[in-house]
Amino acid sequence: MSRDLPWRTYKQYLLDTYSKSVYRIGVDGGFSCPNREKDRSGGCVFCDATGASATYQRKGEGIWKRTSSFQQVIADRGPRKQISLERRLKSLEEQVEKGKKFLFERYEAQALSLYFQAWTSTYASVEELKELFDKGLSLYPFTEFIVSTRPDCLEDDVIELLVSYKDKVDDIWVEVGLQSGNDRTLERINRGHNISKFIESVNKLHEKGIKVSTHIITGLPSESNKEYDNTINLINDLNIEAVKIHNLDILGGTALFDEYIRGELTVASSKRAIETCIYFLRRLNPNIIIQRLLCETPPHRLAAPRKFYDKSKFIQQLQKRMDEFDMRQGDLFE
Ligand code: SF4
Repeated sequence: MSRDLPWRTYKQYLLDTYSKSVYRIGVDGGFSCPNREKDRSGGCVFCDATGASATYQRKGEGIWKRTSSFQQVIADRGPRKQISLERRLKSLEEQVEKGKKFLFERYEAQALSLYFQAWTSTYASVEELKELFDKGLSLYPFTEFIVSTRPDCLEDDVIELLVSYKDKVDDIWVEVGLQSGNDRTLERINRGHNISKFIESVNKLHEKGIKVSTHIITGLPSESNKEYDNTINLINDLNIEAVKIHNLDILGGTALFDEYIRGELTVASSKRAIETCIYFLRRLNPNIIIQRLLCETPPHRLAAPRKFYDKSKFIQQLQKRMDEFDMRQGDLFE
């Protein structure tokens, strides 16, 4: 458990493990996503095809044009436009440099991890992945190597490749997207995989000594406590090491946005999102590291909720509420 918060934070985990402040450099390897290929009808219903990125990587030109309005996103629900491997390798150098500069100057980082963050970062041939991962890991003596992907992009040869980096870093993590532990919901949000595939991937990673973090979304259509319990039990039963919790954001240009403007969907207020967060935290194994508690969509991409606490207020209110009623992560864990 973290020193002053009623949940186990990633920051504290890193401090306890490495005795220094470790920060991630999030990079975009230029990957696309199988769920956005033609036969998968435009990808997950909440995805605006922009890809997760660190704030410091959004400034300047970059090599991929970033969307700046809903209209641009609406025009593109297909796979990502591909660019040459040469350019992607070059871009990794630039991104790592930018990340180093920012994290050393702003946070006085004492160590860095490499985080292939955007899109599906194992969606390529093993040869191409090896070139990109080799390049990234050659740019600095990184502490951890973290790769974000989908459960259906973790074939045995990809996992073997990840394992081959064990002597280069202190730890390897794979972030495996889940969003919900309910097959009906996965179908509803067009995830393009089921729970069995997720279980298979997590077990394979664990067999090889790779740590797993997973992403979940609270407030998805048709989900309430019964569905949340299934998600929580799945995460606990699989001994997943870390979780990122996101409240549902409606992003411009997504399939959910279409439903939202037709009035078919509502999103949780800050207070509701906090209550749901508490529901999850109290039932998750207290050993699980909490890496995220809310979505932080840039305002120009966010359609709803528009009036939502910023990160510091959300965390402060969450802590206040949990402290008030003496609630802790895992106090209802069975
Ligand atoms: S798996 Fe990720 S990148 Fe692919 S459609 Fe879903 S959210 Fe978007």
